[in-house]
Amino acid sequence: MIKFLDLQKINLVHQQEIEEKLIQVFRSGWYLLGNEVKNFETSLVNYVGSPHAIGVANGLDALRLIFRAYLEIEQLKEGDEVIVPANTYIASILAVTDNRLKPVFAEPEIRNYNLNISKIEALITPKTKAIMVVHLYGQVCWSQELETLAKKYNLKIIEDNAQSIGAEWNGIKSGNLGDAAGFSFYPGKNLGALGDSGAVTCKDSLLAKTIRTLANYGSQEKYVNEFQGLNSRLDEIQAAVLDIKMKYIDSENDRRRDIAEKYISNITNSKIILPLLPTASKEHVWHLFVIRTDKRDELQKYLLENRVQTLIHYPIPPHKQKAYTYYNHLSFPVTELIHNEVLSLPISPVMDIDEVQRVIKMVNEF
Ligand SMILES: *Cc1c(COP(=O)(O)O)cnc(C)c1O
Repeated sequence: MIKFLDLQKINLVHQQEIEEKLIQVFRSGWYLLGNEVKNFETSLVNYVGSPHAIGVANGLDALRLIFRAYLEIEQLKEGDEVIVPANTYIASILAVTDNRLKPVFAEPEIRNYNLNISKIEALITPKTKAIMVVHLYGQVCWSQELETLAKKYNLKIIEDNAQSIGAEWNGIKSGNLGDAAGFSFYPGKNLGALGDSGAVTCKDSLLAKTIRTLANYGSQEKYVNEFQGLNSRLDEIQAAVLDIKMKYIDSENDRRRDIAEKYISNITNSKIILPLLPTASKEHVWHLFVIRTDKRDELQKYLLENRVQTLIHYPIPPHKQKAYTYYNHLSFPVTELIHNEVLSLPISPVMDIDEVQRVIKMVNEF
């Protein structure tokens, strides 16, 4: 069986380094708010190029905390509108609604599944205060036009960078394009921990300080609480593992790019719509390799019968989920078409050439 993602193999590549570090942190007796987190935050700042990085418990919290901090420092207020992509994982939307902000959904571009930036301006009202971009599947969602729009209407740009660590636009890393960004280090992400974890990067120091405080019970000084905060800390063990794996992220992303190029050059089945290679290869880190076909369910079944695991990202868009009954009446045809037709093929830094060739062969034979 070619697994969709072989997490065991991905982590065993770094077995010795990780196991030695795990023993060291275990024996140190220091498990939270220590040097491992500090070191990893410094590595993230150096890598992404943003002035601030704050380790948090997971990717959803990273995004929730950005909005929550903007509310606390009164740069956003309850009921403000945030333009969000309709085509995304639900976490992006949850971060907005959890803070009693109003998501205003925008359709994606069918050619790359990312937010269609030319559709944003028509959605802006006096209540619009922010745009959330999601670099979906690992591809940067950014343009000069977006920057101009944000300046013209004085909008904050928040990046959901959960799928795209290492991607670049014009030499700037994702996570350092907007005002603030949320990262996820869920085990299956391109930089994955051994459990849940996440981080925020941002440009403004007051925002950074507020997020750090909010994530620690709203407290900077023990037992003194400035905010009704939460407990959303990155722990020492996860930070130590992430700091090791961080050294390999560029070479692992390059390996994903190689596989994506092989798929794109060699999958020739006319029933399949392939993703496009971006004009600059660094704009994509291929967290997912997503193809599209109106025979999606048959293809998935055929591949499984031929021992190739695939997944669907995602089967139901956020506005059609039971969790959001009050948005169920909305209609976003491009988003809905994508959800009906997409299928993700296996891609990872540890897939070998035989596996890649077998996936190509089976997709072509369908
Ligand atoms: C994974 C993911 C998240 C949430 O990250 P968690 O660490 O699982 O909370 C948010 N947005 C997108 C686009 C994701 O893929």
